[in-house]
Amino acid sequence: MISGRIGKQVSTNCVQKRFGRCEMTGRFAGKVALVTGASSGIGRASALAFAREGAKVVVADIVDEERDETVSAIKAAGGEAIFVQTDVSKAAEVEVLIDKAVQTFGRLDYAHNNAGIEGIIAPTADCTEENWDRVITTTLKGVWLCMKYEIPQMLKQGGGAIVNTASVAGLIGFPGLPAYGAAKGGIVQVTRTAALEYATAGIRVNAVCPGGVRTPMLQRFKDLTGQTEEQMGALDPMQRVAAPEEIAEAAIWLCSDAASFVTGVPMPVDGGQVTQ
Ligand code: NAD
Repeated sequence: MISGRIGKQVSTNCVQKRFGRCEMTGRFAGKVALVTGASSGIGRASALAFAREGAKVVVADIVDEERDETVSAIKAAGGEAIFVQTDVSKAAEVEVLIDKAVQTFGRLDYAHNNAGIEGIIAPTADCTEENWDRVITTTLKGVWLCMKYEIPQMLKQGGGAIVNTASVAGLIGFPGLPAYGAAKGGIVQVTRTAALEYATAGIRVNAVCPGGVRTPMLQRFKDLTGQTEEQMGALDPMQRVAAPEEIAEAAIWLCSDAASFVTGVPMPVDGGQVTQ
């Protein structure tokens, strides 16, 4: 049973001032956060969590703006957000995304590079070249491209914090997911590399490595494998899958000053799955 803040309806720290003006409070007040893959699942939960803590949020996703409900949810709770349609696998689109974030909100403090796709489930010899290229290009290259354009902006400002969404599949083997596992293992390595490169420049770079999370991606895995949520939850000692909010809380903690001495860490958020 999930308790506490998890699953609660979002409300942001909007303090209503005279003349109808809102001023954000909270640990990210005055800060700007960017989340990719933010129209669904973990990214949506992360965008809402950044907003709840007072950040202005740049919501990026490949879907049309009309299909995004994250921005309206943030605004309905009193927060500030913009949507930027972006394919993270395309350098030109990621460059425009960072430009729009800075043009709109003036800075970029936190980035959660979360967009990713799983591709088909097939053993190594049956993985197609098309699937390999598509998964690596979106899931791994997308994270690197985001960092490529986020880091110069953070350097200009004197610092920032980045969290990339990897997976337990980047830490241990998963039969049937050669491209996805390679992409997620690659994210762990680009996270460590960037963490070392920018450690003295005030930029911390970490990764979250979720186990099973109740999102549309998990539903696709269920449809493809015929497994139930209970069977997927049985992979970890806590015997359940996570709510997306449980991954979001880890991501925003890694970005927060509470994690000020934490960098280069691929943090499992997996109910103990990889510690078995
Ligand atoms: P999801 O499918 O619900 O959300 C992914 C979002 O990314 C969607 O909104 C989608 O439109 C967007 N997206 C896809 N391709 C994109 C692109 N090229 N550019 C921009 N946006 C794009 O899945 P989720 O479970 O929320 O997954 C989020 C991240 O978490 C992924 O990187 C995934 O690999 C990782 N993850 C998920 C689980 C899980 O069990 N759900 C476990 C471990 C890791």
